[in-house]
Amino acid sequence: MRGVAKSGMRVAIAGGGLSGLSAAWVLAEQGFDVDVYESRRFPGGRAASYEVPDGDGRIRLDNSQHILMRCCGNLQDLYRRLGIEHLVEYYSQFTFLEPGGRSSTLRAGLLPAPLHFAEAFAGIRFLSLADKLSISRGMIAVRRDVRRGPLLDTLTMGEWLRGHGQTENALRRFWAPVLVSAVNETLEVMSAWQGIRLIYLGFLAGKGNYEMGVPKVLLGDLYAADHFARQPRLHLHLGSAVTGFREADGRLLGIEVNGEQVEAGAFVSALPFERLCSLFPSLETGMCQTSHSPIAGIHLRFRQPVTNLPHAALLDRNIQWFFAKEGGTLLSYRGASRTLETMGKQEIVDLALKELAEFLPEVGRATLTGAWVTRETKATFVASPGFEARRPGPRTRLRNFFLAGDWTNTGWPSTMEGAVISGYRAAEAICQVQGIPARFVVDSRDGGIR
Ligand SMILES: Cc1cc2nc3c(=O)[nH]c(=O)nc-3n(C[C@H](O)[C@H](O)[C@H](O)COP(=O)(O)OP(=O)(O)OC[C@H]3O[C@@H](n4cnc5c(N)ncnc54)[C@H](O)[C@@H]3O)c2cc1C
Repeated sequence: MRGVAKSGMRVAIAGGGLSGLSAAWVLAEQGFDVDVYESRRFPGGRAASYEVPDGDGRIRLDNSQHILMRCCGNLQDLYRRLGIEHLVEYYSQFTFLEPGGRSSTLRAGLLPAPLHFAEAFAGIRFLSLADKLSISRGMIAVRRDVRRGPLLDTLTMGEWLRGHGQTENALRRFWAPVLVSAVNETLEVMSAWQGIRLIYLGFLAGKGNYEMGVPKVLLGDLYAADHFARQPRLHLHLGSAVTGFREADGRLLGIEVNGEQVEAGAFVSALPFERLCSLFPSLETGMCQTSHSPIAGIHLRFRQPVTNLPHAALLDRNIQWFFAKEGGTLLSYRGASRTLETMGKQEIVDLALKELAEFLPEVGRATLTGAWVTRETKATFVASPGFEARRPGPRTRLRNFFLAGDWTNTGWPSTMEGAVISGYRAAEAICQVQGIPARFVVDSRDGGIR
């Protein structure tokens, strides 16, 4: 039996991804003694970097570029608490490239929200006037329908957009590039509630909300164990897999970690739902039938720079976005993964090079010095219609056992922001049970829609 901390109540958290870590941090700040049990040798969960072979040596790569938007207020709050906000750079200009290389940029102008994109939108060359008019009508409908909340969770975003007269070009060249990368599902699968809420948050609720945050360092360094070690009441146990949950009389008595029983005053599961379902089937989270969408990261390194853009959305092809690193010599892409799922590594690299050369002619002339493909088959949950109603809140039928995880009831798709909100909510629920008035969740610049 592991020792029970003498000062403060002890909280044991299963899972050291962003949800578990955010709950742990704010609880430790409140004076709880917090133990986080993480099965892997590093924290950060799905926001991860891996070491892969590079010639005779090794190179570290992110599983895929992770980005955030300025409206992700809770994630930024966590960065501030950890003192790592300077490790993220924000961009207020997006470049869209068409095959052939023609570019258009989107940035906020002088007008206040929701008219801040009017000027840039007028200048966009990859959409016709008819497309732009249909998108403007769509935006007006988003502003109106966002107030209907989860009632919109009965139809797909594709159905909603077609019902609001969107042209094929507007669907393919505007709505899909913006939403598919955020929700990681096609317009035909994602719930209209998720799509409408994100468009509202990112484009209509506040002028700077759309700005994109890109970590300046690898995810493994952004969420390094050292940052969490600065909090003396937070103990991170890496390589410690939770293997069982023990309940009696409406309480969780303990969790099993590497074969040992761990006791605490309160427990949080910050495990992925499928892991919790298999370890604790009688909990009945309602999530066990939920499926996943994959993400593939493609990383290409060239001898010479192939672009001076920091990133761009690529229209009409399989590869959706690229992010340039190391002076434009290392490009990381996110691909339409369902297409890439069945392809071999070399096939994916060949496709990426062929498509990329259509947008960046330098790629055809540059020497490729390294190519890697990273795949996460369970990258994100599928937020299709009906999903919102199934998501549980932080409380369970056991009075000292709480849930966190991006899949819980946060209103967000599978994102770092959703994970942090869930961790903060679980921490708030623990404080409430202890009679401590604490509020950790901050306004996501959502204009009060939730
Ligand atoms: C390739 C990829 C790209 C993404 N891109 C973005 C993006 O651009 N922007 C964005 O906001 N989000 C993105 N996401 C989603 C984001 O990473 C997740 O939503 C978020 O990290 C989830 O955090 P979590 O704590 O809820 O879950 P997880 O990160 O899954 O954490 C759960 C933790 O539990 C651990 N665990 C599992 N079983 C056990 C056990 N038995 N005992 C102990 N520990 C266990 C796991 O190792 C993991 O560390 C992406 C995800 C992937 C995979």
